[in-house]
Amino acid sequence: MDDCIFCKIAAHEIPSTVVYEDDLVMAFDDLNPQAPVHTLVIPKQHYANIVDGVPAETLAAMTHAIQEVAKAKGLDDGFRVIANTGAAAGQTVMHFHMHVLGGKDLGENLL
Ligand code: C5P
Repeated sequence: MDDCIFCKIAAHEIPSTVVYEDDLVMAFDDLNPQAPVHTLVIPKQHYANIVDGVPAETLAAMTHAIQEVAKAKGLDDGFRVIANTGAAAGQTVMHFHMHVLGGKDLGENLL
């Protein structure tokens, strides 16, 4: 998608702090972190959200990327994964992404 910021990040047209990358997915640090660790995992191909026909292979690659983020960031004590889905849930970037949050006691606060 031409005007999608995460498509541009996935294509390295906009710089980001990449934590993990493979053919299908990328993980990069959120520009406005809500926790000591706040990394986003995205598919390189554009899907609006988790219910936009994301192939199982891509979902598996995203799960693998989350594991790689947890390892790279030392999230041994646990972490939270959130996928805001739709504007009513607070999704502001309409390119599917999963937030990986950790590095402190997150308590019950939602993103
Ligand atoms: O789930 P939601 O759509 O609200 O999350 C979008 C996230 O993308 C925000 O946490 C925001 O800080 C992040 N973002 C970013 N880099 C951009 C634009 C948004 O890290 N260029």
